[in-house]
Amino acid sequence: MQFAQIPGLKETKERLTKAVQQNHLAHSLLFHGPEGSASLGMPIALATYLYCENRTEEDSCGQCGSCQRMAKLVMPDFNFVFPRVSLTKEEEKKADEVNAKLVANFRDFCTHQTYGNIQDFIHLNHFEKKKLNISVGAAREVIRSLALSSFEGSYKIMMIWGVEYLNIEASNALLKILEEPQPGTFFMLVTSQPDQLLTTILSRTQKINVRGFTDEEIQNFLVESGKCDEQVAKQVSMIADGNIRAALRMVDQVEDRQVIWVRDWFRLCGIRRFSEIFDLAEKFQKTDLDFQRSIFQTGMNVAREILLHNAQLDQMLRTQGEDRDFVEKIATHVLDEDAASELYEKFNEAIYHLDRNGNAKLIFTDLSMDILLLLARYAKKAA
Ligand SMILES: [Zn+2]
Repeated sequence: MQFAQIPGLKETKERLTKAVQQNHLAHSLLFHGPEGSASLGMPIALATYLYCENRTEEDSCGQCGSCQRMAKLVMPDFNFVFPRVSLTKEEEKKADEVNAKLVANFRDFCTHQTYGNIQDFIHLNHFEKKKLNISVGAAREVIRSLALSSFEGSYKIMMIWGVEYLNIEASNALLKILEEPQPGTFFMLVTSQPDQLLTTILSRTQKINVRGFTDEEIQNFLVESGKCDEQVAKQVSMIADGNIRAALRMVDQVEDRQVIWVRDWFRLCGIRRFSEIFDLAEKFQKTDLDFQRSIFQTGMNVAREILLHNAQLDQMLRTQGEDRDFVEKIATHVLDEDAASELYEKFNEAIYHLDRNGNAKLIFTDLSMDILLLLARYAKKAA
């Protein structure tokens, strides 16, 4: 993650980049901010900035080897710790496997749910109804790994997310190293509840307050990431109260934006509005990969619902309201089972190419032509 990917917060970014440039970044930092803030994104962007081989005054380059590794959080000198639950007897037998899965989930959480909260993380790992903590064993592991020399002769960074979950014993184990980390080592602690931390931890760290977003920052973020149009973004940002997590949830629930997108797209293909389809392809390319995937995923769902409707399994349809009408109309008048299966396959293929770094605009245009042909071929048959 780069600073540019975090909306607004200019003052915080400036404070951090200046500190790096002037070589006086504190070695133990505590990032705290309300839910839905960039309290997790900010330390990751800072670490990326520290490692970047071509950083500018404002940001990391996003291109160099270090930036690419940091984008996937696989930089060998970037370590992280997060709350966990105790392993069951069964899990202990394959502890390495369980651990690898948790680490992969955390990387996924940092990259795809950067504004998520601890509940989202619990849900991701199926930790419901279990007691989370960062154990003294984990704290000792931190000390051990920091004692090793760095892989690439660069900084060693230890990010502790959910630092309020450190139990007392674990906190005490870390006090000394937090007070005086070895040269070239940075601690980046992250919490949304600084008032729950022990004063001994608070007194040893420099606090970086990552404030909630302004309405305008959220609005721009929603529009630029292709989540919704300006009007919806404005309404949502006013209610979200600085919380991007809440804003994202609202956008997804207020109306299913993706289905509307897919519906409009199909309509354009159905009436063969080529220039508008190309405009849409242009727009599509400017959105992020997650959104692009979700559009294709929605297309697959539409195809699946058409299949269900044709098979008279309407009780299994998940779409409601206008979206349901769209599915029923297209199933009744346009696409039969074979066509719907073909459509399903096409979307599946498109996701495959997208995941392998295919050109989003080309994939989208190709897929549009497939949809256009399918709609033309079958609509004629029905007529
Ligand atoms: Zn770079």
